[in-house]
Amino acid sequence: MNDLPNGPPGETCYACDQPATTREHAPPLSFFPQGKRRNLITVPSCSIYNCENSLDVEYVRNALASLEGLNEAGELLIDKAKRSFDHSPALFEQTFQSFVVHSREEQVGTYKFDLKRVDNVMGAVAQALHYRDEGQKWSCRLVFVPSLGSESSLIHKIPDGWDGLRDLFSGVPYVDRPTSEPGVFMYGSHAIDGGWVYRLTFYGGFIVNALMAAYNAEIESGQVEYGPGR
Ligand SMILES: [Zn+2]
Repeated sequence: MNDLPNGPPGETCYACDQPATTREHAPPLSFFPQGKRRNLITVPSCSIYNCENSLDVEYVRNALASLEGLNEAGELLIDKAKRSFDHSPALFEQTFQSFVVHSREEQVGTYKFDLKRVDNVMGAVAQALHYRDEGQKWSCRLVFVPSLGSESSLIHKIPDGWDGLRDLFSGVPYVDRPTSEPGVFMYGSHAIDGGWVYRLTFYGGFIVNALMAAYNAEIESGQVEYGPGR
């Protein structure tokens, strides 16, 4: 939620047909560290939709902040995540209950991502970007996170069966769209037959693919994902 002025009369929400009463950031504002919030992307939103996923947003932001391999903008999130966990020990427990240490010397471990929450947050980001760029209220059909590994590949070191999809998404000729804080968030998109494919890049290293389609459908994802922790 924010206090930006409303858009023109009659403007509706990017995700439903309710009147727009506020503007929602895409990606969510809390993904952007202080000092890296210039000219962020917003879309018209109804207040119901805007509030709906705030707990999922906090979960995903904290989970991302705990990953290794992020740039300096991502490192800035660690303090925010720590404060969030201090405020809610239950959220800390939910986030890291599956944490397994693999190498004590290197302090490497893995933990299970709650993919429903990732789908919810990233699907909304893709939906907002698609509305802004193409003016279409399409639904997000699939969220895929090539940056995350699965239990078999990370822990048991055997192929996880998702490399085909990784290759497919990485081979798409995305057209990069300008963003004002590329160290925090960059994206590109590409039209395919009956839909659009998006590549979202957070903190220089965490990649999310989203498939937007012209029809309504439940988000599907069968992935079991683990992220490298730090
Ligand atoms: Zn709405």
